[in-house]
Amino acid sequence: MSQSENITTETNFLINYDRKAIHSPGSIQPHGVLIVLSNELEILQVSDNTQAYLGKEPEDLLSQPLSNLFDVRQTEVIQHSFNQKTGSTTAFKVSIMTVDGERCFESIVHRTEDALILELELIDSRSELSFLSFQAWASEAIATMQNTLNLKEFLHVVAEEIQKITGFDRVMIYQFDQQQAGSVIAEVKKDNLSPYLGLHYPATDIPKPARELYKRCRLRFIPDLTAQPVKLVPSENPVTHQPLDLSHSGLRSFGECCAEYHQNMGVAALLVISLIQEQQLWGLISCHHQTPKYISYEVRKMCEFLGQIVSSELAHKISHAKWDYTGKLKSLQSELLESISQADNFIDALIKPEIRLLDLVSASGAAICLDHEITLVGATPDIDQVRALIEWANNQVSDNLFSTDSLPQLYPRAVAFKDAASGLLLLRISQVRHYYILWFRPEVIQTVNWAGNPNDSIQIEADGSIILCPRKSFEQWQETVQLTSLPWQPCELESAIALKHAIVGIVLSKADELAKINLELERSNRELAAFAYAASHDLKEPLRGIYNFSTVLLEDYTEILDDEGVECLQTVVSLSVRMETLINALLRLSQLGQAQLHLQTTDLNQLLNQVIEVFRASRQNSQAIDIRVPRPLPTIQCYQVLVNEVFSNLIGNAFKYNDKAEQWVEIGYLDADQHFVDQTSITPVFYVQDNGIGIPEHHLETIFRLFKRLHSQEKYGGGAGAGLAIVKKIIELHQGEIWVESTVTVGSTFYFTLE
Ligand code: ADP
Repeated sequence: MSQSENITTETNFLINYDRKAIHSPGSIQPHGVLIVLSNELEILQVSDNTQAYLGKEPEDLLSQPLSNLFDVRQTEVIQHSFNQKTGSTTAFKVSIMTVDGERCFESIVHRTEDALILELELIDSRSELSFLSFQAWASEAIATMQNTLNLKEFLHVVAEEIQKITGFDRVMIYQFDQQQAGSVIAEVKKDNLSPYLGLHYPATDIPKPARELYKRCRLRFIPDLTAQPVKLVPSENPVTHQPLDLSHSGLRSFGECCAEYHQNMGVAALLVISLIQEQQLWGLISCHHQTPKYISYEVRKMCEFLGQIVSSELAHKISHAKWDYTGKLKSLQSELLESISQADNFIDALIKPEIRLLDLVSASGAAICLDHEITLVGATPDIDQVRALIEWANNQVSDNLFSTDSLPQLYPRAVAFKDAASGLLLLRISQVRHYYILWFRPEVIQTVNWAGNPNDSIQIEADGSIILCPRKSFEQWQETVQLTSLPWQPCELESAIALKHAIVGIVLSKADELAKINLELERSNRELAAFAYAASHDLKEPLRGIYNFSTVLLEDYTEILDDEGVECLQTVVSLSVRMETLINALLRLSQLGQAQLHLQTTDLNQLLNQVIEVFRASRQNSQAIDIRVPRPLPTIQCYQVLVNEVFSNLIGNAFKYNDKAEQWVEIGYLDADQHFVDQTSITPVFYVQDNGIGIPEHHLETIFRLFKRLHSQEKYGGGAGAGLAIVKKIIELHQGEIWVESTVTVGSTFYFTLE
């Protein structure tokens, strides 16, 4: 058995043992007298302080009828209490004749399983409250409480009211969490005391048996934590021979543990009122005083009454608070969604303002991951840590929504960034696209402070026995909450899911929009190509007519025309020739726009030889043409006719735009390590290099536009300015790219790929 198991088992044993002790301590506090009666109203047990209060020794009272102490009327009232249910209490005032004269007592009677218990507390007539003053206080207090807007404010008012009527130095309200650990959620105190508001207490601070008693008995009062307990005489019930059950006794003595615990905090008097919610101990109103302090039974009853009102109002306030919070999250959500749906870039909308994304789930940091781009907001682990975390989540988490308030326990590497992310809420928007939003919460220790180490409350004695004892120090303690964040609430998880749905919806509808635009674009492209084809095709016919008739006029009617008329006609002929060139180019381009790619295995050496041959044949002085191919070209998949056109155009231009005496052109392809554009590409990068006039840098891209020429018609043999546009179109048809590098007066290199 491991050490921790050992302690747990022994602690349970201890708690069982403690249960017995805590409600049957066999003693009471000295601020009253306790008398145990049989059904026949015979005195069975008394507290060993009867002399001080009643002027009679225990022996003088034991086995005596109660009528020896009270008059007939008072005895009758007590007799009536026999008919009560076990646990319910009756209180009334009695006066008893003692040697010091008549004394007034508050007499509190309740039944246990096998006896009637009568507790007497002296009444100080100066502190007595009238019913009217009680009613005035109660109605004012209730009105103030009802006017509060939220749970926090409500509990603060409650604490204020309790302090007002009790005069205690400090009034705190604790709330217990699911693990029974408590936190101070409201506090009213004297200015010189240090605040406990926000402090958390481990569950072990209030042992289970004590909690059970708080549930059964709604008020606990200890006016002096240093007071010595007063034993019962005899110690056991002489009829049942059992220790007396003092669960419902207001005078029940307290354990040393409780005294020491509170004395460590500088507390001398204690008043605790239970707050019950759905039959569970929801929290406590705990009142501390630095010096012993007695408050009357009536004031205690008022506190108990207030406790009951708080308990019944709690459900309403809690659901209101929950509703308020959910409402706040919902309005944040809709604000966020509106920005996302209107934004071009949804990350911007998500993170501006930053706080909105964090508030959406009450986180202190977030990471948005779209593909491999990560954006951090607020307090987060660093980018590499977030990337590793996402990778882990990708392998380990199958759900689209995942949350934990103790990430380091599942993912030990998170210990390194526990301050930012002990809690994680992960939202997977798309696994395929690698879209995630992660929210982080810090280790709880940073936001709350626990008071002391609860392990100190278990002490192992020299003989090996364990006793529960209070922590020696009330110093802030940071252990059990290590590596844990505040838990994620269901409404926060819902908020995250709603965000996912909205993003998916928005992204999808944007994708739909895009698909529609693409379709539209394709359709209008097709129409445009068809139009260009039809227009250029149909234009050719009238153009031919203009050309033919102009030529006829020039040939047959020169005598009739004067010189100016002839010149005009010659211009018409040359313009129609030029126009035909332009129309042909347009026609070619529109044909390419509609062309289907027919890939063929092509030996580029053969293809290039054909190009060169045709090129040489078209030139008068073909000997002077220096075409260099430094190494054989590869065999590739391409549309031969079109690639032929590419080489023809580029080689043609290389010589056309060249004013050197010795003109050359080199055709080749780069080695893999020279692929400066795309290192991973395996397709060769071809080039056609010349020693021509070069191209100014600002024209390196414009030369690929249709009908773009850098020179006047008369220079460099004229041209339609369509050759490079056609080359580019062919390259694009092959899913390739074309670009040029050039130095004016030195030469140009055209690079291209054919996928
Ligand atoms: P065209 O040759 O019919 O004018 P191109 O589309 O083939 O049309 O070329 C567009 C322009 O690009 C040319 O007018 C020329 O100015 C420039 N150009 C093309 N190739 C070269 C080259 N190798 N060297 C210098 N300039 C060139």
